[in-house]
Amino acid sequence: TVFNIGSINIDHLYQVDHFVRPGETMSSSSYQQVLGGKGANQSVALAKAKADVQHIGALNRSDQHILAQLQEYGVNTDQIAQLDEASGHAIIQLTPSAENSIILYPGSNHRLTEQQIKSALNNATKDDWVLLQNETNLVAETLEWAQQAGVKVAFNPAPMDAELTRRVLSFIDLLIVNEVEAMDLAGVDTIEEAAQILPEQYPDLAVMMTLGKEGVRYFSKAEDLQVKAFVVEAKDTTAAGDTFIGFCLAELARGASYEVAMRTACAASAIAVTRVGAAPSIPTLDEVTEFLAN
Ligand code: ADP
Repeated sequence: TVFNIGSINIDHLYQVDHFVRPGETMSSSSYQQVLGGKGANQSVALAKAKADVQHIGALNRSDQHILAQLQEYGVNTDQIAQLDEASGHAIIQLTPSAENSIILYPGSNHRLTEQQIKSALNNATKDDWVLLQNETNLVAETLEWAQQAGVKVAFNPAPMDAELTRRVLSFIDLLIVNEVEAMDLAGVDTIEEAAQILPEQYPDLAVMMTLGKEGVRYFSKAEDLQVKAFVVEAKDTTAAGDTFIGFCLAELARGASYEVAMRTACAASAIAVTRVGAAPSIPTLDEVTEFLAN
């Protein structure tokens, strides 16, 4: 089982000619509501990768359609708290030149409780993984509780908080970062420096650094290897990282090696970038298996 303790957002997308200006009231020509949040996207990727995935999070109790959507993907939602607080959501303006402007309200994503998290961790065994991102509350505490529970712990510190991340590294088995997050964490300006400094500074940690169309680099005390990305025509890289993480952890939870897990995850995210959107762009395990066979 993968216990994913993470955010669930409702993204409200508005197509606009230009970003709304001070004092302006502007009509939007199109409106779409989509499931978002790194936590939810990673749970969807895990479910599509056929992992047994329990999502631990919180929503407003009126948003039953979001629970239903997650369940349709195959995510176990029994441990998603239903609260009076507004669900996490984002108001997103999209311009014709594909620029966006976002107001994010974390809402119920910041209302997780110690009791909720600990009771989820109570059901975890040493073969299970706990996965966290940085869009919920109690992140540092949860990582520590997870380590104490003897579960394997993966952390995707997005959005990056370098100070928090450095503080929790000793609780983590696997850190998954993209190149921007890696540079932030290492306190440097280039990917090359990050790839050099991180393994030096954190020799006990296993790190996966995703490199966009270059693939992913993995380093730990024992290993330093790069898995190349698959060559595809990218249309929309939204949720590439979330797809990578979901498929990677699903493979690791099934007992795959890090190398095999990264290859499957690269294939899954390569397919995802050829499709537009977040959760709907994530492929199924069957699609990934077929892609890898060709
Ligand atoms: P994030 O979305 O978090 O910034 P990346 O951009 O590093 O993450 O992408 C995560 C993974 O998605 C990469 O490791 C790679 O396997 C895959 N990927 C991303 N962009 C492309 C691309 N243009 N072509 C093929 N694979 C890609």
